Formats: sequence, C-alpha cells, structure tokens
Amino acid sequence: MTDPTRLLIHGATGRMGQALLRLAAERDDLRVVAAASRREPEALPAGVQWLPASDLDRAPAFDVAIDFSLPEAFDGVLALCAARGAALVSGTTGLDEAQRAALDATAGHVPVVWAANFSLGVAVLADLVERAARALRDWDCDIVESHHVHKKDAPSGTALALGARAEAGGASPRFASLRAGDIVGEHLVQFATAGERIELVHRATSRDIFARGALHVARRLHGRAPGAYRVADLLD
Ligand code: NAD
Repeated sequence: MTDPTRLLIHGATGRMGQALLRLAAERDDLRVVAAASRREPEALPAGVQWLPASDLDRAPAFDVAIDFSLPEAFDGVLALCAARGAALVSGTTGLDEAQRAALDATAGHVPVVWAANFSLGVAVLADLVERAARALRDWDCDIVESHHVHKKDAPSGTALALGARAEAGGASPRFASLRAGDIVGEHLVQFATAGERIELVHRATSRDIFARGALHVARRLHGRAPGAYRVADLLD
C-alpha cells in the first residue's frame, strides 16, 4: 500500500468538519495531521494537532487540505495550499467572484476541486435536469432548496449549480429557499406547463454523504498535476 494521504481539515469544529474527522479515522489510506478552526475542538482523534485558524502558517506538512468552512475563512486556506504546494478540496459555499477567480488562479499551481455538492445523487440529478431542460424548452423551471436554520447563504451553492445546468439546457430557472429545523439538504427542480408538471427531487438525510465524497476526492487528488478538477473526474 502507498503512504496514507496527509490531510488538514479546515473548519474542524463545524458540522461537516466533525463528520470528516470521524469518517477519515475509519480509513487506512488517509491520515488527518491537523484540524484547523477558530475555537479549539472539545476532542480530537489521537495524533491530530489543533491549529488555530488565525495561525495557519504553523500547519505541519500535509498533502491535501479539505475545507468546509465559511467564505470569510476560505482565503486563508487557499493561500496556505498555494504556499505549501498542497492540493485543496473545498465545499465551502457562498464564495464571491474574486474568491472564485483566486481559486482558478491557484489551480495553475496546485490541484484543486471545488464543488457545491459532493454527493453522487446530486451529480446524477444535475444530468437529469439538463436533459429535462433541453426537452422542455418553454416550460417554467423552478428550483426550491431547503436547509437547516443555521445555513447562511441562499440560494444554496447546489441550487445555483443545478440552475447553471438548467440554463445550459435552455431553461431560465427561478429560485426559492427555505430555512427550517435540521434539514440536511433538499433540492426540488420543477418543470411546469399548462396541465402537467415534472418534479425531480434529491433529499440528503445525512451529511456523511458529502464528507465521504470529499474524502474520496482528496485521496484521488493527491499526487495529481496542478489544475481545477471536477468531482466527476475523480470518481473511479
Ligand atoms: P458550520 O457552521 O457547522 O461550520 C463552519 C466552520 O467554519 C466551523 O468549524 C468554524 O470554526 C469555521 N470558521 C468560521 N469562520 C472561520 C474563520 N474566520 N476562520 C476559520 N474557520 C472559520 O458549517 P457546516 O454545516 O459544517 O458547513 C460548512 C460549509 O460547507 C458551508 O459553506 C456549507 O454550505 C458547506 N457545505 C458544503 C457541502 C458540499 O457538499 N459541498 C455539504 C455541506 C455543507
């Protein structure tokens, strides 16, 4: 077996960060070396060093950073990966245009993956949405996303990504967002015309699906040439 991929988890105290730490510990091919967050986590798996988010320069050597944090924290982990020549897997949503441009520029030097959604089911949903949009040219297209009350950005990054695929198929999607209870994530894409309606829905019931996807992608990204990769490039 080749050496385990050394991971830095950025946003370690968050809901996703906690899932990443728990699921990474189950894999022999991954080793978390550092967990970065604003406040110190109550507990960390053995061998994992805590790194204050304000002091990322002190990170130990790592191969891939996995970032599920907030837009205001993103620039720091991007700069760290560029400085260390390390790969970046990010699922942080709500990035602005300047941050997207900085991510593209950094992909000239290190391998990066940014995805609004790391679930396989949503990748398939996106394909179905584009296909439906192509076939249903004059139908109304609406995307309704529901998430837990703590989610800050709206529409969700996944809703925007699905909207881009609908547009690629020729539709003009509208968006609606609901924030309620502890909903992990639901996306409904509806195509409607006089007398009939199609609803395509994805429901995530556990955020483990996103964490598993990000860990899988991190392992596959390790050792690749610099560039911006998609989740679909790294599934095998
Ligand atoms: P959360 O609020 O539970 O956690 C946010 C984390 O960011 C915390 O660990 C916090 O310490 C850290 N953080 C906040 N400000 C910081 C700063 N200035 N410097 C460093 N760290 C900082 O959020 P969550 O539910 O874990 O989601 C995190 C992100 O991941 C969000 O953008 C969410 O939309 C996104 N998300 C993406 C996917 C996907 O598949 N792409 C899935 C779920 C969530």
